[in-house]
Amino acid sequence: MERGIVPLVDLKAQYLLIKDEIDAAIGQVLDHCDFVSGEEIRFFEERFAAFCGVKHAIGLASGSIALFFALQAFDVMPGDEVITTPFTFIATAEAISHCGAKPRFVDIDPHTFNINPIGLEAAITSKTKAIIPVHLYGQPADMDSILTIARNYGLAVIEDAAQAHGAEYKGRRIGSLGDVACFSFYPSKNLGACGNAGIIVTNDDLIAEKINLLRDHGQNEKNVHVIEGFSEKLDTLQAAVLNVKLAHLPRWNQQRRGIARKYNALLSCFEDISVPYRAKEVNHVYHLYVIRTAKRDLLRRHLDRNEISTGVHYPLPVHLQPVFKWLRLQEGDFPVAESAAREVLSLPMYPEMKAWEVERVVDVIVTWLKESK
Ligand SMILES: *Cc1c(COP(=O)(O)O)cnc(C)c1O
Repeated sequence: MERGIVPLVDLKAQYLLIKDEIDAAIGQVLDHCDFVSGEEIRFFEERFAAFCGVKHAIGLASGSIALFFALQAFDVMPGDEVITTPFTFIATAEAISHCGAKPRFVDIDPHTFNINPIGLEAAITSKTKAIIPVHLYGQPADMDSILTIARNYGLAVIEDAAQAHGAEYKGRRIGSLGDVACFSFYPSKNLGACGNAGIIVTNDDLIAEKINLLRDHGQNEKNVHVIEGFSEKLDTLQAAVLNVKLAHLPRWNQQRRGIARKYNALLSCFEDISVPYRAKEVNHVYHLYVIRTAKRDLLRRHLDRNEISTGVHYPLPVHLQPVFKWLRLQEGDFPVAESAAREVLSLPMYPEMKAWEVERVVDVIVTWLKESK
């Protein structure tokens, strides 16, 4: 068995494989110096819209601002409520409260960790404006059920697709299902920039136009500001990097699925851990490979001692975060999410991961499982 540290993700390995392409793309931007509105931005937006199978893509400075602008575009304001999952990265809920609106949580499905449509209808009130399903870990949420309920009540559906670039639901790419979808290109995401970046995709002309104004000081022509906006555009250097990487994304997702299959094959026979559940009719892109075990903290420490990095996404559900104390929610309100938060463990997962690395992670886990009996 080969030795050596196994990281949770390895951005350097990816860079070294495409170094020439990335360096050339960055070099071109440095040469033309159009850093904030270079043609690379428009080019990337067109390609990413086509990749998702939608009309519009509006490049932004981060995935977090994408979520905030999506809600702003649907006029979410103080007094409104927006439904989402308590088991997500904080940005999903922050976008809601930044609008002055109130996040309302619906507990998750114990298998997929995504919002459970069964609880959705009971959470809808006269103040509800929108639903934000999150495609957690790269697995699409149950969009048909969510969309049916949303349409019945006239609610907007905003996909938080920050972890699901290229994932599919019933043969359709994530991004084309809800009213809008928000992606993050944070460096460690399946499609990652060399810094912060994000994008909104939509088929809705009006929403696209609003987001286009919001991201650039509300300018509809130079020096004419029709609404209060922000300075949150995707920049040229990031667009240039993303243009290079988008071409590799389908293969990288394929490699992630291959690694997941290998993990599944080697780990699924142990009763103390469960491997990721995969819903029917979805194409999972394994942004994270997350196992579940009641012995999470002990196993994590053991892996750490053996130089294997792991992560916990996420150790504290959003409804229990100090920042949301004002919602007056408590332990026990969303028991499925709370139990997941105690038991999930993200194992190393990145497209360049070598077979021996997967085997070493598995070997360390299996030896420990047998010894801790
Ligand atoms: C990464 C992430 C975001 C935020 O994206 P940034 O680009 O880091 O602002 C939002 N939601 C989820 C689920 C994420 O994983």
